[in-house]
Amino acid sequence: MRDFSNIKIGVLGGGQLGKMLYQEATKLGVHLNFLEKDGTFPTTQICKEFVKGDFKNYDDVLQFGKEMDVITIEIEAVNTDALRELEQMGKQVFPQASVIELIKDKGDQKEFYVLNDIPTSPFFTAENKENILEGIEDGTILYPFVQKARRDGYDGKGVAVINSESDLSKVMDTPSIIEDKVNIGKEISVIACRDQKGKTTTFPIVEMEFHPTANLVEFLKSPSDLPQDIQDKAKKIALEIIESMGLIGILAIEMFVTKDGEVLVNEVAPRPHNSGHQTIEGNYTSQYGQLIRILAGLPLGDTSIICPSVMINILGAEGHTGQAVYQNLNETLDTPGVYVHLYGKKLTKPYRKMGHATILAPHLDTAVERANFVKSTLKVIT
Ligand code: ADP
Repeated sequence: MRDFSNIKIGVLGGGQLGKMLYQEATKLGVHLNFLEKDGTFPTTQICKEFVKGDFKNYDDVLQFGKEMDVITIEIEAVNTDALRELEQMGKQVFPQASVIELIKDKGDQKEFYVLNDIPTSPFFTAENKENILEGIEDGTILYPFVQKARRDGYDGKGVAVINSESDLSKVMDTPSIIEDKVNIGKEISVIACRDQKGKTTTFPIVEMEFHPTANLVEFLKSPSDLPQDIQDKAKKIALEIIESMGLIGILAIEMFVTKDGEVLVNEVAPRPHNSGHQTIEGNYTSQYGQLIRILAGLPLGDTSIICPSVMINILGAEGHTGQAVYQNLNETLDTPGVYVHLYGKKLTKPYRKMGHATILAPHLDTAVERANFVKSTLKVIT
């Protein structure tokens, strides 16, 4: 076995996920290198030895990767041609380039689920708006439905819920998938992990409540109180996905539990995810620590919960664009069990993810109560 502390691990991207990955890596004495444009990003503000470059650029990724033993990502929008080339050269790319390519396209992702018998809502693919309008006209597409851009959507951008004819102006003119609108009971997330030897585990299931307009997670609750059989079903599906992808790394799987108790896969992300932030303080091993272990060839950690927790995103307030000011931070930090993470972004704008807070309490109800207090108290203004 290589001495893990000498393995050169490169990360494409230097956002907040990279920052939290870096913070966990330092605990184990693992050194990470980052590729990012400049020193203003959440990670590059604290990790000064980053390499300047664009993770979307073939040459930049190739040059950066050549110096590394293992390459990983903190964002999917990376140049996968260069990653394929690096794999050819014998570099370890986790998650693998083929998995990143599959996940970048929501149409390919959905086809993968169908091919592998993974439950997901029925769908069509459409080339453009005209195609969708024709489908409605000839009765192949029925209201209500959800349109999703095949590529480059995130945090609800690139998703349109079309309930009736009056929503038709929201239809996007882009290659898309058209899904049945699911009668959602709960939205949940399971993070699955697979190490270099093929050993797997999952984190306990969490429940997510979304902001109605911003489409960002408002409240994340850990653990879920869904019936055990539904939780078991969701974990089984999560392991089936990570194994059929052959992915090495961590995979966040967002699922819908319908009002009838059916579990449907919505989408996945092959990297640390917003739905795993609370694992930093709430679980024995965090999602970041787990990824570091996998990259360094170390054993998987215990994913169990230490204490119930709630995670809330700290978002830029509506009507404020400019230099960020954190209002009522002292009152927030005075609240028991509250861990505040500020990402160090200088500029705020409405709904920009500026940080998050994890609230731990012996009982979930208490954590929810305190999270409500933090949510109504801490504001990011200008
Ligand atoms: P993004 O990649 O932008 O996160 P998602 O596919 O997760 O997009 O969709 C964003 C949100 O839209 C989901 O969390 C869910 O609330 C809602 N949504 C997505 N697909 C459906 C669907 N088929 N039926 C009902 N609601 C949906």
